[in-house]
Amino acid sequence: PQGSTVAKFAELLGVQPNDVIKRLFMLGQVLTLTQSMSDELVELIADDMGRKVRVVSPEEEFAIVYHDSDEDLKPRPPVVTVMGHVDHGKTSLLDAIRHTGVAEGEAGGITQHIGASVVRIGDRQITFIDTPGHEAFTAMRARGAQVTDVIVLVVASDDGVMPQTIEAINHAKAANVPIVVAVNKIDKPGANPDRVRQELVEYGVIPEDWGGQNMFVNVSAKKKLHIDDLLETILLQADVLELRANPDALASGFVIEANLDKGRGPVATVLVQRGTLHPGDTVVAGTSYGRVRALVDPRGQHVEGAAPSYPVEILGLNSVPVAGDEFRVFEDERDARKLAEERALRARLAEQETKSHMNLDDLFNRI
Ligand code: GDP
Ligand code: MG
Repeated sequence: PQGSTVAKFAELLGVQPNDVIKRLFMLGQVLTLTQSMSDELVELIADDMGRKVRVVSPEEEFAIVYHDSDEDLKPRPPVVTVMGHVDHGKTSLLDAIRHTGVAEGEAGGITQHIGASVVRIGDRQITFIDTPGHEAFTAMRARGAQVTDVIVLVVASDDGVMPQTIEAINHAKAANVPIVVAVNKIDKPGANPDRVRQELVEYGVIPEDWGGQNMFVNVSAKKKLHIDDLLETILLQADVLELRANPDALASGFVIEANLDKGRGPVATVLVQRGTLHPGDTVVAGTSYGRVRALVDPRGQHVEGAAPSYPVEILGLNSVPVAGDEFRVFEDERDARKLAEERALRARLAEQETKSHMNLDDLFNRI
């Protein structure tokens, strides 16, 4: 893209600038560090170096589909979303899980609401993202945000499969995310956990002991029954996925929640997917940017770093981003500001265009 110099390109790919210059030279292109590369060259050289690069839009930037080398990748905790039909017990289950997690982890820690939490099980961890609602989930996926590794599908055993159960299954399938089924409310007199299993077969969600791919756990969120079984099962499912990420890179990930806090200004909860986020980093999130003034974890504690799979609040942005926005750390503050301002300008232009179209429509309607 325009403006992507040899130096910038090398920095984004994490390769030696000299190596890029050499490869360009071999293609008959004599370029210096500060000269711009064409889109074609960007793609060609990236490909040559075993990286995949996608040019997003010529005036904006290029998004890198990161290809970390094997030795850069370290195990990371699973990120889990709880979904299911209304009143089947999603909130109760998350409460029970958090309670268990706090009880088994270090003491103290009143979880404040940041849209996500980290639960400790022995020396392992699971990140839970608060059910974003199916619409937000779809919106995020449409923007390429793959934020969850495992979906816990809650089905009340006195009610069985309902419309939002099926919706959740469809979401999971479309996103290619494995489902762990929590058959809930087994304490109730009318509970029939086996009927839930039978009903789910019709939707391709089949228990392992019936020859299928899905792990099932009977639980009671209310009576806190088998919650630790559920957590162990999630970890088993995560083991199969062999989740890894590069913690030693400029951080990137997605905004999962954002708001304007009276005292603290714009606050965004982000999920780090690659690299490690630190206070002092320059971040762009959608049309917002800023230097990270502080990072706050789900226990309300200030932290010095957030590694892959960790949710953390960012303080210090100049405006409130939107849930589903990608965030990315930039080496150069000017680049960050330029990108955020260009995006903001484009958003305003698009809005004006919509408005003027609406005005025209109004006009036509009146005639
Ligand atoms: P959500 O809409 O999926 O978040 O469901 P909630 O967690 O708000 O639960 C809906 C209702 O079911 C509440 O009245 C809960 O107390 C109740 N509930 C949730 N889990 C259980 C359970 O395991 N057993 C029983 N008996 N009730 C439950
Ligand atoms: Mg709820």
